[in-house]
Amino acid sequence: MQLALLEARKGWERGEVPVGAVVVRDGEVIATGFNQPIGRHDPTAHAEIVALRAAAEKLGNYRLPGCELYVTLEPCIMCSGAMMHARLARVVYAAVDPKTGACGSVLNLFAEERLNHHTEVVGGVMADEASSLLKAFFAERRAAARKPPAA
Ligand SMILES: [Zn+2]
Repeated sequence: MQLALLEARKGWERGEVPVGAVVVRDGEVIATGFNQPIGRHDPTAHAEIVALRAAAEKLGNYRLPGCELYVTLEPCIMCSGAMMHARLARVVYAAVDPKTGACGSVLNLFAEERLNHHTEVVGGVMADEASSLLKAFFAERRAAARKPPAA
């Protein structure tokens, strides 16, 4: 999760909401990703999707059985769906996302028994660090918005 937080900071440096993700298999880091929908002009470029794509490319397989994904924010519906399609073994997230979280905050896709693949979910790992990072980012953005334009 420490590495996912470092990825999140890369997003911040580029003006993106700081969320980072890491895909791990057998204790080895396969791929990393950070949130970058603005920079990539891509609404699907969430940290998890970026990391899943890189992992699948690296392994030469659209499925990632036995892989775990660590992400600094509770995954949304899109990312949760992608993880299920990838047959990910486990997802570990840090902070909860009361607005778009699909692991229990808004709804819980992983508890939906009608969906045929069941990825294990663990939440709250290093949640304070991840949510502090997000809060600091949004505070900085609000402060910048209040500042009068330079003459
Ligand atoms: Zn997402």
